[in-house]
Order: sequence, then C-alpha cells, then structure tokens
Amino acid sequence: MLKIENLHARVEGKDILKGLTLTVNSGEVHAIMGPNGAGKSTLGNVLSGRDGYEVTAGSVTFQGRDLLALEPEERAAAGVFLAFQYPVEIPGVNNTYFLRAALNAQRKQRGEAELDSMQFLKLVREKLKIMQISDELLHRAVNEGFSGGEKKRNEIFQMAVLEPKLAILDETDSGLDIDALKQVAQGVNALRSPDRAFLVITHYQRLLDYIEPDFVHVLADGRIVESGDKTLALKLEEHGYAWVAERDPALA
Ligand code: ADP
Ligand code: MG
Ligand code: MG
Repeated sequence: MLKIENLHARVEGKDILKGLTLTVNSGEVHAIMGPNGAGKSTLGNVLSGRDGYEVTAGSVTFQGRDLLALEPEERAAAGVFLAFQYPVEIPGVNNTYFLRAALNAQRKQRGEAELDSMQFLKLVREKLKIMQISDELLHRAVNEGFSGGEKKRNEIFQMAVLEPKLAILDETDSGLDIDALKQVAQGVNALRSPDRAFLVITHYQRLLDYIEPDFVHVLADGRIVESGDKTLALKLEEHGYAWVAERDPALA
C-alpha cells in the first residue's frame, strides 16, 4: 500500500528526514516511536502534503501512485488521512457541515456522487455508534472549546466518516486521560480492516496496550533505526531511547 524509500525532507532549510525507508501493507498497523524532535510529525506532514515541507530526495508510492506528485486534496481523496497532533479549531464552522463538505470534496475528486443531507445523516448515525462521541459535539463549531480528549475523539470520528485507506495518527494519545485514551483506541480498533492501514505515531508505549501494532519502528534523527514487533515498544519503555542510540553508533 505504502512504500517510502530513502525519503529526505527539510523544513525551513533544515534537513529533518534523512533517508527514511518504510513499507506498509494493507491491513497492517505500524507504530512509529521516537524521541521528541526525531521527525515523526514531519513524516506525517510530508505524507499528507502539508505546505512548507520540501522533499529533497527519495520516493513515496501509495497504491502504485507517486504520492509526492499529488496535491494535498488529491492525497486525501486517494485515501490518506492525517489526524493532527494539535487539532485545529475552526470557529464559526459547524462540525457536521465541515465533515460533509470534506467528505463530498473527496467524493467529487474521485468522481463519485456527493451525499445529500439525508444520506450524510444516515452515515453519521452509523459512525456515531462506532465512535463513542456525543452528538452534541457535532452541532458545535469544529473543535471550538473542545477539551483535549474531545478534539482527539473528533479526529477519530472524522476518520470514521472519511473511511481512509491509510490513516496516520500523530500522537493522538498525547494529553489524554486513561478513559479518553481507551475510547480513542476503541474507535481505531473498530476501524481496523484488511483494506486499511494505520501509522500510529506515539511517544509512549501506553497507547500500544490498547492498539496492538503489527510492527513497531523507532524513528531517530530522521531515519527508521530499528524495527520489530510489539515487544520492541516494551523494550523502549524499559530502556528509553538512549538504548537505541547506544546500539547505533551513527546516532551517538
Ligand atoms: P517529532 O514529531 O518527532 O517530535 P517534528 O517532526 O515535529 O518531531 O520535528 C522535527 C524537527 O523539525 C524539530 O527539530 C523541529 O523543531 C523541526 N521543525 C518541525 N517543523 C518545523 C517548522 N515548521 N519550522 C521549523 N522547524 C520545524
Ligand atoms: Mg513532538
Ligand atoms: Mg510530533
């Protein structure tokens, strides 16, 4: 589904990704862990096509297409979804209206018919059942005055409605109490499917108690420096990221 090869990217003239290689197959959940400043959010931003991130070398193939050649909205329509580390508030824009506009923009890009408000409401009701989110949140402005946990749950709800092929969750666990964390994990788990893949970016092992990854990777200094199964996350929790650096002289 996703093949990242030797990816180099810079932000504001500074090299952040320095030869990142990663392959993700349909149905898989990959956790990306790593110290602060390693480039985890940069990876998510580069994949979703956010402004200001310059790719200087390497390639990204998504479902056989050159992802880097696509505009951000084309990537979204192709099924790439990024849940932000810091979800944005859009005051004055109704959450339901926003979601329907986002979904219909993607459907239009794909040449599919737009959903009318009845069809959209039906979809929203189905997804509300999956994601334990209060429908009161749907009638408020996007993320405005939402608590940290509500914002993160709203991101997962957006994901449920947009039904992406590749979902990238950037520290969706940060700042969540244990109940909100479990709710977010439950939503993600409900959306796991053979034709969908997840990149779960997290700083801490805790989330992976609830979202069980197929693979765990350590991102340090702009590269994947170690990969393994879920036990790698436990080792990191025990030994800290210094342990990875000690094993890799290039990082010392
Ligand atoms: P992580 O998510 O792993 O904590 P980031 O990808 O956010 O790391 O950041 C990696 C490095 O890139 C950091 O040194 C950060 O300061 C820098 N960086 C990220 N975004 C920007 C930006 N918009 N402008 C300048 N520097 C940035
Ligand atoms: Mg960070
Ligand atoms: Mg980050």
